[in-house]
Amino acid sequence: MQLPTYDDVVAAAARIAGHAHHTPVLRSATADARWGAQFFFKCENFQRMGAFKFRGAFNALSRFDAAQRKAGAIAFSSGNHAQAVALSARLLGMPALIVMPQDAPAAKLAATRGYGAEVVLYDRFTEDREALTLRLAAERGMTLIPPYDHPDVIAGQGTAAKELIEETGPLDRLYVCTGGGGLTSGSALAARALAPQCKVYGVEPEAGNDAQQSLRAGRIVHIPVPQTIADGAQTQHLGEYTFGIIRRDVDDILTVSDAQLVEAMRFFAERMKMVVEPTGCLAFAGACTDAQAIRGARVGVIVSGGNVDLARYADLLAGR
Ligand SMILES: *Cc1c(COP(=O)(O)O)cnc(C)c1O
Repeated sequence: MQLPTYDDVVAAAARIAGHAHHTPVLRSATADARWGAQFFFKCENFQRMGAFKFRGAFNALSRFDAAQRKAGAIAFSSGNHAQAVALSARLLGMPALIVMPQDAPAAKLAATRGYGAEVVLYDRFTEDREALTLRLAAERGMTLIPPYDHPDVIAGQGTAAKELIEETGPLDRLYVCTGGGGLTSGSALAARALAPQCKVYGVEPEAGNDAQQSLRAGRIVHIPVPQTIADGAQTQHLGEYTFGIIRRDVDDILTVSDAQLVEAMRFFAERMKMVVEPTGCLAFAGACTDAQAIRGARVGVIVSGGNVDLARYADLLAGR
């Protein structure tokens, strides 16, 4: 198995240029003062379709040959990857079919259909989505783009950290939201190349700490579907590619509670006027639990997405 490299991140950056937004890096004097650090927030909640996943999906789909473009792309996802593949397919003029859980957030379902993709629903707790997706892919000759464990997806996701470090200069620490590890492994490729001294941390929900367990065990650990408000990180295991990069290039995996995610969400809303979805708060919440270590440091935080049903967002902020 050939792991993607930083060269692949550079190639991805060229492919997505002019299609993906170059998202802003925001600062917060309040955060800096409160934690005695210098924070640089890479705001992928302002990316097209509202999350970094557009980067990986567009990179992967833009590498299709003529036959693949004609049949189109198929994906399974609890949300943002679905929208990313749907939008990328529309922009590249190809069909898309998305297999989504019945209980996916309403906003994400509506958006995926809104981008023109066909949606097939399944029951997350009883049905095998991978088997269903593979069957549909075979029937229609579509190319499966997995949400994280694919070299082109990982390389695309790495372009966010590349932009961040190119803009800020070397960082001491970089915190990244971890689900299946696509964003984390891509970010690690960029950080290792552009800021070799920078420590890289993945952050996942306490209830779903499979990546942390995997790093400690030295093999990919599988867990049951975790119950957490971070719906974009309800993954049950890392992938072969993402684990290969994470074990080599990531310093550690931290965990945060749902309550800490809500704290971070409130901070983004109140102080930075940003709507950030629970999963998008993982990295900042993780940095905040690392209070000793970040003091005096230049800290990169990837704010990974902002797609949240507004009624649910209000409930979470109100403590309901
Ligand atoms: C998918 C997603 C993640 C997790 O990314 P992985 O590449 O699966 O680790 C984090 N935040 C948001 C907003 C996401 O959509």
